[in-house]
Formats: sequence, C-alpha cells, structure tokens
Amino acid sequence: MAVLFISDLHLDSARPESIDAFVRFTQNEARQAESLFILGDLFEAWIGDDDDEPGLVPILDAIEALTGSGTRCRFMHGNRDFLVGEAFCARTGVQLLDEFETIELNGEPVLLTHGDLLCSDDVRYLELRRQLRDPAWQQDFLGKSLDERRRIAASLRELSQTEMAAKTEAIMDVNEATVRETLQKFGVLTLIHGHTHRPALHRFEVGGAPAMRVVLDDWYGAGGYLAWDEDGPRRVSL
Ligand code: MN
Repeated sequence: MAVLFISDLHLDSARPESIDAFVRFTQNEARQAESLFILGDLFEAWIGDDDDEPGLVPILDAIEALTGSGTRCRFMHGNRDFLVGEAFCARTGVQLLDEFETIELNGEPVLLTHGDLLCSDDVRYLELRRQLRDPAWQQDFLGKSLDERRRIAASLRELSQTEMAAKTEAIMDVNEATVRETLQKFGVLTLIHGHTHRPALHRFEVGGAPAMRVVLDDWYGAGGYLAWDEDGPRRVSL
C-alpha cells in the first residue's frame, strides 16, 4: 500500500471545484492508501478551529470519513493554515506534525516540511512568520471575533500578494544551501516539501551521496499528489 503526500490545495469556498476535487481524492486515491500526509496550506486561510464558515464542512467531513475508513492522516502547518489546532484534529481524526518531521519510507529516512523555512532568501517573509508564529500574537488573534479575524486574514493575504509581486522568482524559491544544511542537520538524503508551487523531483548530491528533493503540486490547476510505495516515489496528476 502507498503513502500519499499532498500540499498547497489552498481550499477556499470561492473555488468549489477544488473542494470537490479534494473530496473525490479522499474517497478514492487516499482511501486506498495506507496513510496520507498533508504538508500544509490545505486551506487558503485558517482563522481558528472555531470558524463557522459552512463551506468548510464538506472538507472536514471528507477528512473525518477518510480517517474513519482506516487511512492514517497527518497534517503539517503551512503559512496559510498555521492556526489549525487540537479541535480540528479531534473533529477530523488527523494528527498534527511539527514543522520538520522525519519518517521512514522503504527503510530510508525521509524529511518532511512545508517548505517556507527553506526559502531563506525571503527575509521579509521570515520576519512576518516569526510574528505570526508568536504564541502571544496567536492568543490575541484567536481572542478576536470571527469577523475581525476574517478582515485581518484578508489584509494579510493582500499584503502577501503585494509582497510577492515585488519579489523576484529566485527569492521565492528554496535556497540551495539551506536545503543542503537542512538535509545534513537531519541526517537524511531525501526531502519532501511543497509551498513553492514548483512541482519537481530534483536529484543532486550531498557530500558525494545521491540526494532527492520532491516538490509537491499545488491544486490551483488540476492538482496532484506524490505516491510512495515499494517501488519508490511517483508523482501523479489528477
Ligand atoms: Mn505555503
């Protein structure tokens, strides 16, 4: 049985077709899998587990049905849905992962991360990230009304779009030296991440050994996933 990886679906009730595609994925490909790793940015925005937006219900129901069917499901925060918390996990049966996790696939250690921390040239983003991940900021934010949180989330998205327009392509991609340092720090030769929306399977060398970096598909287009079984990794488009 395969282990599947997805990220960067950016699910949003404004794009119901992507929600439909995700629900179908949970009922078919993911249901046949041993486990599913969601490596961040499942949601376009997540303003707290108490969000009462009705458009979220089919997504939560689909994940709950998936974990109920026996597919183990794990979730890592992205830069859009870093406020996913314990109530979400209880509702869906998902387990929350840290920002870096090492798992074993076919006996080899594989490092998982969302990918934003690898984009170390983007100093302004990393500064904003530090602020948004500060427990005091999060506590203050979650104490606000849902309407106010929606307004703040919308203005953060606007800010991110303005910032992205002003940045070069290179700044928004991973920094190769950071990738190498990260692989060495965790003692692995394989890395799976999303975030950059540049799906690929990169092969290179670290200290003379063959290394691999798999970048997951975003779901703004058809979408896709990574399947890993006894034959190794396979990128699949939907
Ligand atoms: Mn991201």
